Amino acid sequence: MSSRLVSVAVPVPALGLLTYRIPDGLPMPAPGARVVVPLGRRSITGVVVGIAGAADQAYAIKDITTVLDPGAFVPADVVQLTEWVSDYYLAGPGAALSAALPPQGLTARVDRFKTVRVAALTAMGLDAVDRLVAHTRCAADDEMQGSVGGGFRRARGAGGDATLGARQRETLLLLHGSPDGLSAPDLAQRGIAGATITRLKGLGLVSIRNDRVDRDPFSHAVSAPAAAPLRDLTSEQQAALAQLLPLAAAKEFRVALVHGVTGSGKTEVYLRVAEAVRQAGRGVLLLVPEIALTPQVAALFRARFGAAVAIQHSGLSDGERHDQWHRIRRGDVDVVIGTRSAVFAPLANPGLIIVDEEHDTSYKQDETPRYHGRDVAIMRGKFAGALVMIGSATPTLESYANALAGRYTLVSLERRVLDRPLAAVSVVNMREEIAAAGGEVVLSRPLVTAIGDRLAKQEQSLILLNRRGFATAVFCRQCGASLDCPNCSVSLTVHTRGSDWRARCHYCNFVRPVPKTCDSCAAPYMERVGFGTERVEAEIRRAFPDARVARVDRDTVRRKGSLVEILASVARLDVDIVIGTQMIAKGHDFPNVTLVGVISADVGLGLADFRSAERTFQLLTQVAGRAGRGERPGEAIIQSLMPEHYSIGLACAQDYRAFYAKEAEFRRAMRYPPQVAMVNVVVRGKTFGQAMDDARELAAATGGGKGFVILGPAPAPLTKLRGEHRAQFFLKGTSRKAMREALQLSLSRKPELSKRLSVDVDPLSML
Ligand code: ADP
Ligand code: ZN
Repeated sequence: MSSRLVSVAVPVPALGLLTYRIPDGLPMPAPGARVVVPLGRRSITGVVVGIAGAADQAYAIKDITTVLDPGAFVPADVVQLTEWVSDYYLAGPGAALSAALPPQGLTARVDRFKTVRVAALTAMGLDAVDRLVAHTRCAADDEMQGSVGGGFRRARGAGGDATLGARQRETLLLLHGSPDGLSAPDLAQRGIAGATITRLKGLGLVSIRNDRVDRDPFSHAVSAPAAAPLRDLTSEQQAALAQLLPLAAAKEFRVALVHGVTGSGKTEVYLRVAEAVRQAGRGVLLLVPEIALTPQVAALFRARFGAAVAIQHSGLSDGERHDQWHRIRRGDVDVVIGTRSAVFAPLANPGLIIVDEEHDTSYKQDETPRYHGRDVAIMRGKFAGALVMIGSATPTLESYANALAGRYTLVSLERRVLDRPLAAVSVVNMREEIAAAGGEVVLSRPLVTAIGDRLAKQEQSLILLNRRGFATAVFCRQCGASLDCPNCSVSLTVHTRGSDWRARCHYCNFVRPVPKTCDSCAAPYMERVGFGTERVEAEIRRAFPDARVARVDRDTVRRKGSLVEILASVARLDVDIVIGTQMIAKGHDFPNVTLVGVISADVGLGLADFRSAERTFQLLTQVAGRAGRGERPGEAIIQSLMPEHYSIGLACAQDYRAFYAKEAEFRRAMRYPPQVAMVNVVVRGKTFGQAMDDARELAAATGGGKGFVILGPAPAPLTKLRGEHRAQFFLKGTSRKAMREALQLSLSRKPELSKRLSVDVDPLSML
């Protein structure tokens, strides 16, 4: 009987949906319920995705062993969303589903993170305890006389039978001082053993309950400020709300692109729409690129909506994420804030999904399933009949094109709040600086003057260089050999700590000391070339020895919480100059920053990626937007070797629309996204020949078809990565469906390739 068959997703990469039978006597599980199923000789936990059709499989269908959940564990609409992800991104259903599960969702028992809480029984008044304690004191006196050994004495009380030891007595008093009880970890911290509690329970003196004591992720992530008073909205904010509130009230799927210049007050707009949706009884989901980098948005939501907010981010422990997931699933919260993966949060009935800084590349997951959080958010909105609001000062070409085509509602905020001006931006032509100073110049004269001026006025400066390390490479001046990674086709980056010079690979973390002589020719002329944030820090400290300097890049924020600390010290004005990578360009709101310096605007422009101009424009516009957000006007100084490049010129003019027009024309002419869609396939091999041969076969099996062409195969830009050789090809065309189906077919014919293959639909990086 086919109605007793279900499709189950299991967390095994490369396995499709599996069909199992529900034996008679077991209840039919709902979609989203977890089940234990036999798989080969193993037993494995999976999730029911739906009813399976009549079996067309050659092999015998096995019975499900156990149904773990009476209803859905993962909400049915989230299961539907992961099915879409699995299909669209050509990822296995198990891989897609695991993105939606809490930590240990398929392995641990649900109550694994429950905290035991112990309380003194309320029925017993303090008098009674006193009496007991008095009796116990007698017992303790007995002990002084050495009459009884061990820890437990007979308390000769009225009942005559209560036995209390010193530890138990102490515990009881402690518990009476804590009417809500104490958690097991708290008790353990005070040296109270579980055995003591068990005995007290046996005596009927305390109660033990299993509580979900949710660990508070705010303790180290986001400090919630006191609720800010509601402000008068600017006329542009009012106009934006006049467009957005009716869309939210319509309870239909709609996407709105909120294009607002930096400092135009987008957050307040999000808050007001969120409030309206909450009032209407629906949930709100807010996605942000990285909570630690933009703590203000999360903190403002927390301040406005209080405990109804759950926050999920990468700094949380598994236990904390688990708590949050179940809090949301139970319906204890109606606002969820999180990074990319929060798009799968088990929030019931979302009415509004906000994707802040929708251009941010961290929305794209760079491992299977390679989904884009914004695009999944839009699908979730579609399934839920919700308003999806995506916001940015520098929208992606894709999103803006959709808005111009009328698929999205365009909402524009063109001015900063309170008529604050955008930063005045100027470009320094570094070719002229080099001609004047000779050699490699890190800090131009105008930038040095401007930083000195801010120091004198006790204002802050933000200095961006989107490249870590001290030097980008080491060359031998005699034979030209560079110091390369043995595992990857890249040169090693030089890092320094004091007098310790090391060369490190930014892909695989291979490290070696910088040698004094060349590996190839033994000549003692090793020369460092190029520079990164460490070098900028050294130059700034030399130029301004009294300034308080902080550096923000992946090397300085490795320790959990250190980024939050550094950003907090900037906010407290304990830092004069912040040096950093793109991390400092994100949505920070530091009102005392009046100068932004960009050391080299050209870093991304040399890359062989058709999005390099877009990236550069976004980064420069965003970082310039960090200046002058308070009462004093801001200035940005951009150093460049190619000041005539349109992405630099138009970022200086902060003219998004002109940039869009120019860039869209380039994409059309070159037939790049958003004009067409692309899929990238990378094949890895032990040798380059093997990778290339396999890529060639797979490309041929996929074939060009109606609506798409195949480009390649060719060596991948990183031909070697972590010891593996890589070849790649692209599918490019207007029909994603045709591309998907062709690939699905060719991949299914080459299952042995699946372990050495990655498929990236709508790849964001060509590198
Ligand atoms: P965006 O995200 O658009 O760059 P924000 O939402 O961070 O801008 O707002 C920029 C600054 O303006 C913040 O300091 C915010 O508190 C302030 N702000 C927002 N709306 C108003 C308003 N209506 N009146 C005064 N200040 C406002
Ligand atoms: Zn490497």
